[in-house]
Amino acid sequence: MGALNLQVTIDQDSGFCFGVVYAIDMAEEILAEDGYLYCLGDIVHNDEEVERLKAKGLRIISHEDLQTLHHEKVLIRAHGEAPETYRTALENDITLIDASCPVVLKLQHRIKTSHDANEKIVIFGKHGHAEVIGLEGQTNGEALVFQDIAELDNANLPERFTLYSQTTKSTAKFYQIKEELINRGYNVKANDTICRQVSNRDKDLHKFAVNFDKILFVSGKKSSNGKVLFEVCKKFNPNTYFISSTDELDFSIFQSGDRVGIAGATSTPMWLMQEFKAELEKH
Ligand code: SF4
Repeated sequence: MGALNLQVTIDQDSGFCFGVVYAIDMAEEILAEDGYLYCLGDIVHNDEEVERLKAKGLRIISHEDLQTLHHEKVLIRAHGEAPETYRTALENDITLIDASCPVVLKLQHRIKTSHDANEKIVIFGKHGHAEVIGLEGQTNGEALVFQDIAELDNANLPERFTLYSQTTKSTAKFYQIKEELINRGYNVKANDTICRQVSNRDKDLHKFAVNFDKILFVSGKKSSNGKVLFEVCKKFNPNTYFISSTDELDFSIFQSGDRVGIAGATSTPMWLMQEFKAELEKH
Protein backbone atom coordinates (compact mmCIF):
# COMPACT_ATOMS: atom_id res chain seq x y z
CA MET A 1 0.00 0.00 0.00
CA GLY A 2 1.38 3.44 -0.98
CA ALA A 3 1.44 6.70 0.95
CA LEU A 4 -2.03 7.69 -0.24
CA ASN A 5 -3.39 4.52 1.32
CA LEU A 6 -6.18 4.22 -1.27
CA GLN A 7 -8.81 1.50 -0.78
CA VAL A 8 -9.39 0.24 -4.33
CA THR A 9 -12.22 -2.03 -5.47
CA ILE A 10 -12.95 -3.24 -9.00
CA ASP A 11 -16.58 -3.65 -10.05
CA GLN A 12 -16.79 -7.38 -10.72
CA ASP A 13 -19.66 -6.87 -13.17
CA SER A 14 -17.55 -4.59 -15.36
CA GLY A 15 -15.37 -5.80 -18.19
CA PHE A 16 -15.95 -7.71 -21.40
CA CYS A 17 -19.45 -8.80 -22.33
CA PHE A 18 -19.88 -12.29 -23.80
CA GLY A 19 -19.90 -10.89 -27.37
CA VAL A 20 -16.43 -9.43 -26.93
CA VAL A 21 -15.10 -12.48 -25.07
CA TYR A 22 -16.29 -14.67 -27.96
CA ALA A 23 -14.55 -12.53 -30.61
CA ILE A 24 -11.28 -12.28 -28.69
CA ASP A 25 -11.23 -16.01 -27.87
CA MET A 26 -11.76 -16.79 -31.53
CA ALA A 27 -8.96 -14.42 -32.56
CA GLU A 28 -6.52 -15.80 -30.00
CA GLU A 29 -7.21 -19.38 -31.05
CA ILE A 30 -6.36 -18.61 -34.69
CA LEU A 31 -3.38 -16.44 -33.73
CA ALA A 32 -1.97 -19.35 -31.74
CA GLU A 33 -2.32 -21.64 -34.76
CA ASP A 34 -1.45 -19.35 -37.70
CA GLY A 35 0.69 -16.64 -36.08
CA TYR A 36 -1.34 -13.86 -37.72
CA LEU A 37 -4.93 -12.91 -38.49
CA TYR A 38 -6.60 -10.02 -40.30
CA CYS A 39 -9.39 -8.24 -38.45
CA LEU A 40 -11.80 -5.83 -40.10
CA GLY A 41 -11.64 -2.71 -37.87
CA ASP A 42 -10.48 -2.57 -34.26
CA ILE A 43 -11.49 -5.85 -32.66
CA VAL A 44 -12.73 -3.93 -29.61
CA HIS A 45 -12.97 -0.21 -28.81
CA ASN A 46 -10.08 -0.38 -26.42
CA ASP A 47 -6.63 0.65 -27.65
CA GLU A 48 -4.77 -1.23 -24.90
CA GLU A 49 -6.45 -4.55 -25.76
CA VAL A 50 -5.96 -3.96 -29.48
CA GLU A 51 -2.23 -3.39 -28.88
CA ARG A 52 -2.00 -6.59 -26.83
CA LEU A 53 -3.52 -8.59 -29.69
CA LYS A 54 -1.47 -6.82 -32.37
CA ALA A 55 1.64 -7.99 -30.53
CA LYS A 56 0.34 -11.54 -31.02
CA GLY A 57 -0.05 -11.02 -34.78
CA LEU A 58 -3.47 -9.39 -35.22
CA ARG A 59 -3.51 -7.16 -38.30
CA ILE A 60 -6.22 -4.52 -38.30
CA ILE A 61 -7.47 -3.66 -41.78
CA SER A 62 -10.05 -1.24 -43.17
CA HIS A 63 -12.90 -1.94 -45.58
CA GLU A 64 -10.76 -0.42 -48.31
CA ASP A 65 -7.94 -2.85 -47.53
CA LEU A 66 -10.42 -5.72 -47.76
CA GLN A 67 -11.07 -4.88 -51.42
CA THR A 68 -7.47 -5.68 -52.31
CA LEU A 69 -6.97 -8.69 -50.01
CA HIS A 70 -7.28 -12.22 -51.40
CA HIS A 71 -7.14 -15.82 -50.11
CA GLU A 72 -6.76 -14.90 -46.43
CA LYS A 73 -8.69 -15.34 -43.19
CA VAL A 74 -10.45 -12.21 -41.91
CA LEU A 75 -12.18 -11.87 -38.58
CA ILE A 76 -15.49 -10.06 -38.32
CA ARG A 77 -15.71 -8.51 -34.87
CA ALA A 78 -18.70 -8.48 -32.51
CA HIS A 79 -20.23 -5.34 -34.11
CA GLY A 80 -21.17 -7.33 -37.22
CA GLU A 81 -20.97 -6.32 -40.86
CA ALA A 82 -23.21 -5.25 -43.72
CA PRO A 83 -24.04 -7.77 -46.53
CA GLU A 84 -21.56 -5.95 -48.77
CA THR A 85 -18.64 -7.32 -46.73
CA TYR A 86 -19.82 -10.91 -47.20
CA ARG A 87 -20.07 -10.31 -50.97
CA THR A 88 -16.52 -8.91 -51.13
CA ALA A 89 -15.21 -11.88 -49.16
CA LEU A 90 -16.81 -14.30 -51.59
CA GLU A 91 -15.38 -12.47 -54.61
CA ASN A 92 -11.88 -12.31 -53.09
CA ASP A 93 -11.80 -15.89 -51.80
CA ILE A 94 -11.53 -14.64 -48.24
CA THR A 95 -12.44 -16.97 -45.38
CA LEU A 96 -14.49 -14.99 -42.91
CA ILE A 97 -14.10 -15.88 -39.26
CA ASP A 98 -17.45 -14.53 -38.21
CA ALA A 99 -17.42 -13.40 -34.59
CA SER A 100 -20.48 -11.15 -35.00
CA CYS A 101 -22.24 -11.12 -31.65
CA PRO A 102 -25.42 -13.24 -31.70
CA VAL A 103 -27.34 -10.29 -30.21
CA VAL A 104 -26.27 -8.07 -33.13
CA LEU A 105 -27.02 -10.80 -35.69
CA LYS A 106 -30.52 -11.16 -34.29
CA LEU A 107 -31.05 -7.40 -34.57
CA GLN A 108 -29.74 -7.39 -38.15
CA HIS A 109 -32.21 -10.15 -38.95
CA ARG A 110 -35.13 -8.27 -37.37
CA ILE A 111 -34.30 -5.12 -39.31
CA LYS A 112 -34.02 -7.06 -42.56
CA THR A 113 -37.39 -8.73 -41.93
CA SER A 114 -39.00 -5.33 -41.23
CA HIS A 115 -37.42 -3.84 -44.31
CA ASP A 116 -38.56 -6.77 -46.46
CA ALA A 117 -42.07 -6.18 -45.10
CA ASN A 118 -41.83 -2.61 -46.47
CA GLU A 119 -41.70 -0.97 -43.07
CA LYS A 120 -39.92 2.37 -42.89
CA ILE A 121 -36.94 1.86 -40.56
CA VAL A 122 -35.59 4.48 -38.17
CA ILE A 123 -32.53 3.61 -36.06
CA PHE A 124 -31.40 5.37 -32.89
CA GLY A 125 -27.64 4.95 -33.26
CA LYS A 126 -24.34 6.67 -33.74
CA HIS A 127 -23.57 7.81 -37.27
CA GLY A 128 -20.64 5.91 -38.73
CA HIS A 129 -20.48 3.33 -35.91
CA ALA A 130 -19.56 -0.11 -37.24
CA GLU A 131 -22.66 -1.80 -35.79
CA VAL A 132 -24.93 0.92 -37.23
CA ILE A 133 -23.36 0.57 -40.69
CA GLY A 134 -24.09 -3.17 -40.49
CA LEU A 135 -27.70 -2.43 -39.51
CA GLU A 136 -28.20 0.13 -42.29
CA GLY A 137 -26.82 -2.45 -44.68
CA GLN A 138 -29.84 -4.69 -43.98
CA THR A 139 -32.04 -2.00 -45.55
CA ASN A 140 -29.86 -1.21 -48.59
CA GLY A 141 -28.94 2.00 -46.81
CA GLU A 142 -32.59 3.14 -46.74
CA ALA A 143 -32.92 3.32 -42.94
CA LEU A 144 -32.90 6.73 -41.33
CA VAL A 145 -30.26 6.93 -38.59
CA PHE A 146 -30.22 9.59 -35.90
CA GLN A 147 -28.19 9.98 -32.73
CA ASP A 148 -30.01 13.01 -31.38
CA ILE A 149 -33.75 13.64 -31.47
CA ALA A 150 -33.07 17.18 -32.74
CA GLU A 151 -31.92 15.62 -36.01
CA LEU A 152 -35.50 14.49 -36.60
CA ASP A 153 -36.94 18.01 -36.37
CA ASN A 154 -36.48 18.68 -40.06
CA ALA A 155 -36.34 15.08 -41.27
CA ASN A 156 -38.96 13.89 -43.67
CA LEU A 157 -40.42 11.19 -41.40
CA PRO A 158 -43.36 9.14 -42.59
CA GLU A 159 -46.45 9.04 -40.41
CA ARG A 160 -45.79 5.41 -39.47
CA PHE A 161 -42.38 3.80 -38.93
CA THR A 162 -40.51 1.11 -37.00
CA LEU A 163 -37.95 2.29 -34.48
CA TYR A 164 -34.89 0.24 -33.54
CA SER A 165 -31.88 1.02 -31.38
CA GLN A 166 -28.17 0.29 -31.65
CA THR A 167 -27.48 -2.36 -28.99
CA THR A 168 -25.30 -0.13 -26.81
CA LYS A 169 -27.49 2.95 -26.44
CA SER A 170 -28.93 4.23 -23.18
CA THR A 171 -32.26 2.57 -22.34
CA ALA A 172 -33.58 5.71 -20.62
CA LYS A 173 -32.84 7.83 -23.70
CA PHE A 174 -34.48 5.28 -25.99
CA TYR A 175 -37.75 5.42 -24.05
CA GLN A 176 -37.62 9.23 -23.85
CA ILE A 177 -37.26 9.35 -27.62
CA LYS A 178 -40.09 6.88 -28.12
CA GLU A 179 -42.40 9.02 -25.97
CA GLU A 180 -41.36 12.21 -27.70
CA LEU A 181 -42.05 10.76 -31.15
CA ILE A 182 -45.47 9.47 -30.07
CA ASN A 183 -46.22 12.92 -28.62
CA ARG A 184 -45.29 14.44 -31.95
CA GLY A 185 -48.11 12.40 -33.47
CA TYR A 186 -46.19 9.60 -35.19
CA ASN A 187 -47.38 6.01 -35.28
CA VAL A 188 -44.24 4.35 -33.86
CA LYS A 189 -43.66 0.61 -33.66
CA ALA A 190 -40.82 0.79 -31.13
CA ASN A 191 -38.44 -2.10 -30.54
CA ASP A 192 -36.15 -1.85 -27.54
CA THR A 193 -33.15 -3.67 -29.00
CA ILE A 194 -30.63 -2.53 -26.41
CA CYS A 195 -28.41 -5.38 -25.31
CA ARG A 196 -29.17 -6.62 -21.81
CA GLN A 197 -25.42 -6.79 -21.12
CA VAL A 198 -25.52 -3.00 -21.33
CA SER A 199 -28.96 -2.18 -19.89
CA ASN A 200 -28.48 -4.47 -16.88
CA ARG A 201 -25.15 -2.85 -16.08
CA ASP A 202 -26.83 0.47 -16.46
CA LYS A 203 -29.15 -0.58 -13.60
CA ASP A 204 -26.54 -2.15 -11.33
CA LEU A 205 -23.72 0.32 -11.81
CA HIS A 206 -25.28 3.09 -9.76
CA LYS A 207 -25.39 0.79 -6.72
CA PHE A 208 -21.64 0.32 -7.13
CA ALA A 209 -20.88 4.00 -7.82
CA VAL A 210 -22.46 5.39 -4.65
CA ASN A 211 -20.14 3.41 -2.37
CA PHE A 212 -16.92 5.28 -3.21
CA ASP A 213 -15.26 8.67 -2.76
CA LYS A 214 -13.98 8.55 -6.33
CA ILE A 215 -14.79 6.41 -9.37
CA LEU A 216 -12.36 5.77 -12.18
CA PHE A 217 -14.33 4.76 -15.23
CA VAL A 218 -11.92 2.93 -17.54
CA SER A 219 -12.89 2.89 -21.20
CA GLY A 220 -11.67 3.54 -24.73
CA LYS A 221 -12.81 6.91 -26.05
CA LYS A 222 -14.58 5.29 -29.03
CA SER A 223 -16.72 2.97 -26.92
CA SER A 224 -20.43 3.83 -27.17
CA ASN A 225 -21.50 1.90 -24.10
CA GLY A 226 -18.46 3.36 -22.30
CA LYS A 227 -20.00 6.81 -22.73
CA VAL A 228 -23.41 5.60 -21.55
CA LEU A 229 -22.08 3.77 -18.48
CA PHE A 230 -19.75 6.64 -17.59
CA GLU A 231 -22.76 9.00 -17.52
CA VAL A 232 -24.57 6.57 -15.21
CA CYS A 233 -21.63 6.58 -12.76
CA LYS A 234 -21.26 10.34 -13.00
CA LYS A 235 -24.94 10.87 -12.26
CA PHE A 236 -24.76 8.85 -9.05
CA ASN A 237 -21.25 9.86 -8.08
CA PRO A 238 -20.13 13.30 -9.33
CA ASN A 239 -16.52 12.39 -8.50
CA THR A 240 -16.34 10.04 -11.48
CA TYR A 241 -13.42 10.34 -13.90
CA PHE A 242 -13.25 8.94 -17.44
CA ILE A 243 -9.82 7.44 -18.12
CA SER A 244 -8.35 5.22 -20.81
CA SER A 245 -4.80 4.40 -19.79
CA THR A 246 -2.72 4.46 -16.61
CA ASP A 247 -0.52 7.22 -18.13
CA GLU A 248 -3.48 9.57 -17.72
CA LEU A 249 -3.69 9.06 -13.94
CA ASP A 250 -3.61 12.31 -11.98
CA PHE A 251 -2.90 11.50 -8.33
CA SER A 252 -3.67 15.05 -7.21
CA ILE A 253 -7.41 14.22 -7.34
CA PHE A 254 -7.05 11.72 -4.49
CA GLN A 255 -7.00 12.30 -0.77
CA SER A 256 -5.35 10.00 1.68
CA GLY A 257 -7.52 6.98 2.51
CA ASP A 258 -10.00 7.57 -0.36
CA ARG A 259 -12.21 4.65 -1.28
CA VAL A 260 -11.81 4.32 -5.06
CA GLY A 261 -14.09 2.25 -7.28
CA ILE A 262 -12.93 1.08 -10.70
CA ALA A 263 -15.56 0.31 -13.32
CA GLY A 264 -15.46 -0.12 -17.08
CA ALA A 265 -17.32 -0.67 -20.33
CA THR A 266 -18.20 -3.96 -22.04
CA SER A 267 -15.02 -3.39 -24.07
CA THR A 268 -12.72 -2.80 -21.10
CA PRO A 269 -10.46 -5.76 -20.29
CA MET A 270 -10.29 -6.91 -16.67
CA TRP A 271 -6.46 -6.97 -16.88
CA LEU A 272 -6.49 -3.22 -17.56
CA MET A 273 -8.71 -2.49 -14.55
CA GLN A 274 -6.34 -4.63 -12.46
CA GLU A 275 -3.41 -2.58 -13.77
CA PHE A 276 -5.17 0.58 -12.57
CA LYS A 277 -5.75 -0.97 -9.16
CA ALA A 278 -2.08 -1.95 -8.82
CA GLU A 279 -0.97 1.50 -9.92
CA LEU A 280 -3.26 3.26 -7.43
CA GLU A 281 -2.15 1.03 -4.59
CA LYS A 282 1.51 1.83 -5.29
CA HIS A 283 0.99 5.56 -4.53
S1 SF4 B 1 -22.68 -5.34 -25.75
FE1 SF4 B 1 -24.19 -6.94 -26.14
S2 SF4 B 1 -24.57 -6.81 -28.33
FE2 SF4 B 1 -22.65 -5.74 -27.96
S3 SF4 B 1 -21.08 -7.31 -28.24
FE3 SF4 B 1 -21.59 -7.26 -26.07
S4 SF4 B 1 -23.11 -8.89 -25.82
FE4 SF4 B 1 -23.02 -8.38 -27.99
